[in-house]
Order: sequence, then C-alpha cells, then structure tokens
Amino acid sequence: MTSKKATAIYQDLKGKRVLVTGASSGIGLACARALAGSGAMVAAQYLNGKSAAEKAEKEFPGRLLKVRADLSEEKGCVKVVGESIKALGGLDLLVHSAGIWTDGPIREMTRETLETTFKTNTFSSYYLSREASRRITRGGLIFIGSTAGQRGEPGHSHYAGSKGALQSMVLSLAQELAPSIRVNLVSPGWVRTPMSEEALRSREKSIISAVPLKRVAEADDVAEAVLFLASNSSRHLTGVDICCSGGALLPMPRG
Ligand code: NAD
Repeated sequence: MTSKKATAIYQDLKGKRVLVTGASSGIGLACARALAGSGAMVAAQYLNGKSAAEKAEKEFPGRLLKVRADLSEEKGCVKVVGESIKALGGLDLLVHSAGIWTDGPIREMTRETLETTFKTNTFSSYYLSREASRRITRGGLIFIGSTAGQRGEPGHSHYAGSKGALQSMVLSLAQELAPSIRVNLVSPGWVRTPMSEEALRSREKSIISAVPLKRVAEADDVAEAVLFLASNSSRHLTGVDICCSGGALLPMPRG
C-alpha cells in the first residue's frame, strides 16, 4: 500500500475557520494543507519553520495565513487564538498538533525536560481549549495524542504522560462543551516526520515488523483522520480517540 496526499473532500469544510498548530512541519503541516485544500480558511501557527509556513501560504493564497507563537507559554496560546480570530473573522475548529518528543529515562529526568514537555504538549492543550471554546459557537476541538499516551513508552514516561493527560482532558471536555463543541483526539503511532526521523533512520525495519499494516504512517494518513473529525461526517462523534497506528496496539496472541 502506498501513501498519498490526504484526499478526502468534505464539502462542509468549505469556509470553516480553523486554527492548526504546528503547521510548519509534519502532521500539522499536512492537516493545514488538507484543510485549506478542502476549502477551509486556515490560520497556520508556526514557531521556527517560517519558510515552510510561507511556502504553504503561497500554495493557498488568502486561504492559509501564518501566525507565529510559542505555545509552551500561556501568553502564546492566548495570542495565537486572538490573532487567528482576527485574521479569519472567527473560529470554528482547532487542530492542535504542535508538540515535542524528547528522551527522558526516569533516573535522569530533569525538571526542565519534564516541565517543557508538559508545558508544550499538555498545558497548551488546556490554554488553547479555554481560549478557543470561549469563541467557538458551533464546532470542534481536535488534538493529536500518541500511542505512547495509550500504552506507555519506556524511556519516555514524561512524553507518554503528557499525551495520556490529553485522553482524560478530551473525555472531560467532550461532555463539558457538548452539544455545541465536539472534542476528539487522534493518537498516531509511528509517523514519518522530522520528529521521528532519527528513530526511523536507526530502527525502521524493526518498527515496521511490529505494525500489522507493515508500514510507517505518512503525515497525510493522520490528516485524513483529522479531516473526518473536522467534518460533519463525524457529527455524532465526541470524546473519541482514533488510534492511527496501522494496528500497532492490537493485542497480539502470545505463546
Ligand atoms: P514535527 O516535529 O514535524 O512537528 C512538531 C511541530 O510542533 C513543529 O511545527 C514545531 O515547530 C511545533 N512546536 C514544537 N514546540 C512548539 C512550541 N513551544 N510552540 C509552538 N509550536 C511548537 O512532529 P510531528 O510528527 O508532526 O508531530 C506532531 C504531533 O504528532 C506532536 O504532538 C507529536 O507528539 C505527535 N505524534 C507524532 C508521532 C510521530 O511518529 N511523528 C507519533 C505520535 C504522535
């Protein structure tokens, strides 16, 4: 099976005003392009990847607008929602993909590693939810979790915890913000992006051998799930966690 650019076209996404975070790279960039390609108006948050954000802006003139913010701080989250609303004239959807993944064996865990991970991956999700839900009258919040949050990850307990927290946050907010705002999560397994580049370089073969669908996901595979959750085709789904992992978490027969 070969991977393709995200192709699903949901007519109702036309004109939807969406903030996509982490939109200069990997999954966030794929989501921003797929949404803009579906006719949505996208505010594309970036931090360091200005040239990638500019390139996407040129690809979708007037439909994809870059916004710079550091989401590891509350003020960056407040700023990005405010500036997106200004640029788009309102907000219907949030897709929060920005995140970090670092090594962190527990015996060597520093306060900085722990705090930076939770600030970037978890606290940002709360601040963005607060800011976005105050302004969205009818729409959705979509978060990018990880299989690490679903099944744990040795050497990365801080990352797994930062993503595991998103599961219970999503379950809570899905109830709290219903019926006007649907809140969902997509939890990818291995995805070919700059984040996983080094790990894939050294152990792609063994990673693939543990995936029933026998491939590493491309960012567009994840964007496809996000498009579905953003669209009205998922109108009766809230509080769900779509595991986009090629079956990697399926229980295997042992012995
Ligand atoms: P990536 O490194 O390509 O993209 C991460 C993005 O987050 C970048 O655009 C980066 O600028 C942004 N970012 C990082 N820190 C930020 C900050 N303080 N403020 C604002 N933006 C910041 O990685 P990716 O694979 O596209 O990751 C996207 C999401 O998917 C992450 O939340 C990640 O945890 C999750 N994920 C990735 C994989 C994988 O194998 N690649 C697997 C599971 C989950």
